[in-house]
Amino acid sequence: MSSLDTLRPPLDGEEFLDVDALVDALDDWAVLEKFSFRTHKREKGKAIWICAEENCRWRVRAGAVDKEEGLVRLVVVVGEHSCFSRGVRKFSSSSKKSWLDRVVSRHLNVTKKTSPKEIVDCLRVCYGETIDYKRAQECRLRLLDGNIGKQRHSFQLLPAYKELLERVAPGVHVDLVRDQHRKSLYCFIFIILTTLHI
Ligand SMILES: [Zn+2]
Repeated sequence: MSSLDTLRPPLDGEEFLDVDALVDALDDWAVLEKFSFRTHKREKGKAIWICAEENCRWRVRAGAVDKEEGLVRLVVVVGEHSCFSRGVRKFSSSSKKSWLDRVVSRHLNVTKKTSPKEIVDCLRVCYGETIDYKRAQECRLRLLDGNIGKQRHSFQLLPAYKELLERVAPGVHVDLVRDQHRKSLYCFIFIILTTLHI
C-alpha cells in the first residue's frame, strides 16, 4: 500500500507550533504532489517559500498567529504551480534529513542489520521517491545513533493503520499485540480473514 495516502497538503490558514513544523508539512505536500520548493526568505518567525523551478508562481508564507506567541499560520499565496517540470533535485524534500528520519522511522525498525538498500526500497515503494545510497546510509546511521526511542513514536501510528486497513478491506480484522518480552519494542499485527470473497 502506498504511504502517499498518509500525506496530505496543509490547508491555507492552518496553524503550526513553529516554522519548522510548518516546513515539515510543506515537505509532505512536496512529496505528495512531486514538486520542490526553496526558502526565499526566513527571519524572526517570518518566512516565504517559493517553487524551486524558476518563474513558477507557487508561493506560500508563514504568518504570526495573533496573541499566541510562537504559533505560525500557513498563508498560501499561490497554491497552483505554473511550472511544467517539477522536482529540482537540489531541493527535493525526500532528501532532507528531517523528512527522511521522520518517515523512515515510521516504516522501518532500523537496526544494525538494516541495509541502506532497504531504506532506498522503502522510499521507492511507499512514496515513489528515489534517494541515493549515501543518503540512505546517513539516515540509517542517524536512526541507529538516535536510539530506538526516537523510532518508538512510529508505533503510535499502528492504531491508525489498523483503522484504515479495516475500513478499506471489509472482512479483515486486525489485532495489535505488544511483545512484553522485548519491552514493548515490537508490535505484531495479526490479520484474520473473517470473510473470503473470491
Ligand atoms: Zn512550481
